[in-house]
Amino acid sequence: MTKKKWIILILSIVIIVAGGIGGYIWYQNDQKQKILDSIQLTFTDQTVIEYGSDCHAEELVAKQSGQLSAPQIDTMKIGKQTLEYKVSKGDLSKTFSHEIEVKDTQLPEIKLTKESVTLDYGDQFDVKKYIESVSDKVDGELSYISQDKIKENQNNYYTYESDVNTKKAGTYEVTINAVDKNQNKTEKTLKVTVKEEVKEEASKSQTSSTSSSSSSASSSMSKQYVASPNNKVIVIDPGHQGQGNSSLEPIGPGASTKKAKVAGGATGTSTGIPESQTTLEVGLKLRSELQARGYTVIMTRTSQNVNISNKERAMIGNNNNAAAVIHLHCDGAGSSARGAHTIAPASDNPYCSSIYSASSRLAQNVISSYCAKTGIKNRGVSYRNDLSGLNWSEVPAIYIEMGFITNATEDQLLNDDAFQTKCAQGIADGIDAYF
Ligand SMILES: [Zn+2]
Repeated sequence: MTKKKWIILILSIVIIVAGGIGGYIWYQNDQKQKILDSIQLTFTDQTVIEYGSDCHAEELVAKQSGQLSAPQIDTMKIGKQTLEYKVSKGDLSKTFSHEIEVKDTQLPEIKLTKESVTLDYGDQFDVKKYIESVSDKVDGELSYISQDKIKENQNNYYTYESDVNTKKAGTYEVTINAVDKNQNKTEKTLKVTVKEEVKEEASKSQTSSTSSSSSSASSSMSKQYVASPNNKVIVIDPGHQGQGNSSLEPIGPGASTKKAKVAGGATGTSTGIPESQTTLEVGLKLRSELQARGYTVIMTRTSQNVNISNKERAMIGNNNNAAAVIHLHCDGAGSSARGAHTIAPASDNPYCSSIYSASSRLAQNVISSYCAKTGIKNRGVSYRNDLSGLNWSEVPAIYIEMGFITNATEDQLLNDDAFQTKCAQGIADGIDAYF
């Protein structure tokens, strides 16, 4: 070959190779573009996210092609947010922006123990006693701030102003206002009626001169619960439940002290049987016994598998206007402790002193009949202010600690079928005596 032909041949090869490479690159790019074009992401219509909700960015995707990597939504941050999503196929990926807005549309909630209240002339009145809870779904419990201490832009609080004068008969309205962290507001009204003054009879006027000196004693003990003679409704509360509930609730209306909603309860040292089961077995027998004696019986529970707080148990008594509420329990202590006792609210109980007299009499009757029937040692009546089950009660209520299941002998007895029937009869005898 001539030199010229060689040059032509080499050039041709160069052109062919270059063309091939170029074509290949073009083809590759075209394929890439096709893949990129096929990466798609469409969103649902939802662009508003509830404040504090458990919303994940994935939930806002309607359709995707490829592998999705979704961002985090900060649902505790009010306002607009741009979410950056990435969708990939192989090593190719595309990002998509999506604008959302976090809003707080949930209002705080005010729960009152009553919507309206009637007071006697001169009664003590404290709004807090009627406020069960003020809370926000997200922010939790709101705290009280008195009206004069509220600053501009104050949030996460509740307040009220009371012009109730119990020395002036009439109808008053107390408005409770709650404001959550995002300035959502709720208000609720408590209607308060103050009765006319009851003029003392002439015969009592003699003692009225001395009553001023003893007034501290009489005013500290509020008006006592009066039983209606035809009411034969008994609420039986078998203490505890299969699983305790350690979340907290106030120990009484307006109380800042809190206790577990339901404690776990004791366990039989000898039988290994939990207190909740023993109280349920005795409770069911007591129900039969009382029904046979003509009472109407309401049980707070008939199974282990429930979750009812001590306050809720008290409310069952209130809502059914029970003539008596019997909370059944077994004691726990050292192995030598033995005997039974009943518990009633103390006369100076800050939440339910109005049921003191009736509950005390019920407690006296029940413990003596119970011990007479069962032969268990009588440890008498104790008076306490720390039991939620009593403090929330507006009707006569007692606890009976039927014996110590941490004592082997009493544990065996309290879990014996025939003995449990005796326990039920003894308690029923006490209720009969109370009526
Ligand atoms: Zn107990």
